[in-house]
Amino acid sequence: MPVSSTVAVAQKRIFAMSAEIWDEVARTIAKQSPCPRAQVGAVIFRADRKAVLSTGYNGQARKSESILCGGSCCDRDRLGIPSGERIEIGCIHAEINAIANAVYEGIALADACIVITAPPCLMCSKMIIQSGIKTVYYRGGQRWTSTGEDYLSAHGVQLISLGR
Ligand SMILES: [Zn+2]
Ligand SMILES: [Zn+2]
Repeated sequence: MPVSSTVAVAQKRIFAMSAEIWDEVARTIAKQSPCPRAQVGAVIFRADRKAVLSTGYNGQARKSESILCGGSCCDRDRLGIPSGERIEIGCIHAEINAIANAVYEGIALADACIVITAPPCLMCSKMIIQSGIKTVYYRGGQRWTSTGEDYLSAHGVQLISLGR
């Protein structure tokens, strides 16, 4: 095998390995979510340097006291709003929090990867594109209505499912 393809195979292995590791980290981070409806975690990382750039879970805005989410009942459940719709109601999604946390720390996300423990909604997908993230790993699941996958693909973002 030529050296270049050996390197490519090795790089692919590191890439896949790091996505699996960050997926586990994202699932651990999801446990911090105060949302009674669903706990979602996101990790933004650089595959080439095995470095985490930012993390997030779904929850209320900084300094807010459980006004929209984190009480005993989620507003989305109370109002019967399906997953992926009216995302201004309820908590800030994990992906948006991870992007916002990077902004807070002054970290650039161009060409980064994100792993999410749920499929991205349309609003999060827009944020992912604008932040410069180029690869999205995500988990599926019966409860989720995915609304962002086609939009991400149409904008050149690579989508990789990690299964349920
Ligand atoms: Zn919530
Ligand atoms: Zn979202």
